[in-house]
Amino acid sequence: MIDLRRQYETVRGDVDAAIRGLLESQQWILGRPVEDLERALAALAGVPHGVGCASGSDALYLALRAVGVGPGDEVVTSPFSFFATAGAVWRLGAKPVFADIDARTFNLDPGRAAAAITPRTRAILPVHLYGRVADVDAIGAAAARAGDIAVVEDAAQAIGAETVSRRKAGGLGVAAAFSFFPTKNLGGYGDGGLVTTGDAEVAARLRRLRVHGERERYRHVEVGVNARLDAVQAAVLLAKLPRLAGWNERRRALAARYGRLLAGTPLVLPEVADGHIFHQYTVRVPGGARDRLREHLAAAGVATAVYYPVPLHLQECFRYLGWRPGDLPEAERAAAECLSLPIFPEMRDDEQEAVAEAIGRFRA
Ligand SMILES: *Cc1c(COP(=O)(O)O)cnc(C)c1O
Repeated sequence: MIDLRRQYETVRGDVDAAIRGLLESQQWILGRPVEDLERALAALAGVPHGVGCASGSDALYLALRAVGVGPGDEVVTSPFSFFATAGAVWRLGAKPVFADIDARTFNLDPGRAAAAITPRTRAILPVHLYGRVADVDAIGAAAARAGDIAVVEDAAQAIGAETVSRRKAGGLGVAAAFSFFPTKNLGGYGDGGLVTTGDAEVAARLRRLRVHGERERYRHVEVGVNARLDAVQAAVLLAKLPRLAGWNERRRALAARYGRLLAGTPLVLPEVADGHIFHQYTVRVPGGARDRLREHLAAAGVATAVYYPVPLHLQECFRYLGWRPGDLPEAERAAAECLSLPIFPEMRDDEQEAVAEAIGRFRA
């Protein structure tokens, strides 16, 4: 699916130098590289504040907490996402309320999100799945109509993504969570995450919460956690950051090329919408043939992945919420039909052609 080693070969000089710099300084906790990365990624999202966190999962938890989500609250979110989206809500003692997705974009459907709002709703958490920004304008309008509801973006898969009107992921709600998991579009060499926000008070609270709720040394105004971004990760990410735009551009070019190579097949292809950065290139395989196509491709030496095979409302750990199969049909259909094909900036054209040829040889 992805060859991280190839990317390392292209950044080795800068990354090795950055890590050597830290070895010399012995400044492992917060400090210069974390602050520089926070500033750079805030600028990328078009907001004043960035707060580095230990992972994307912690970034989600801290962002929701910093905007006021707590025990007993409800958070409306997508059932078709990585587990961390709903896990963060649960960790706050709040209730994830799943609203179905839009079949075309795989993202939270604004109308269904609006219909899921209750007097207990404290936040809406859209996910920019596969690198395509969710319809945050319509979601934000529904939140505003309903009153005091914060929109928090799960932008883990969308670093550098934009809306079709060219507004940047990470600056569309009150706060946004990014992940630097190694396979993300900007990947570290370990775990890492970051929250962007335009709200100075939210930023100050995030900085407190990630160091045990400390306002000044050994003065704790609330109970927080240890969830700082590692300085080594920040140094690696800063060294890689200048290449992010080019990598995202290459992903878009590969996606457009898949569109041409797979045009005659029965697969339902994703739209190459403006601003989509194709963290994944995910097709639908209709007619119940997904798993057979997957096996056929594996036999041909083509790796694929299913993101995600079980929607969140049907996860065993959320059984207490009372959802049944059939309750969110679009998310369930997506889980049964979706297939992610290899896409990464260093993928060669001939490798992509081999994927398309192997798909062309499949007979359902
Ligand atoms: C990767 C991811 C996360 C979590 O990020 P980690 O850094 O792995 O904790 C959250 N949400 C989505 C949609 C993701 O893809």
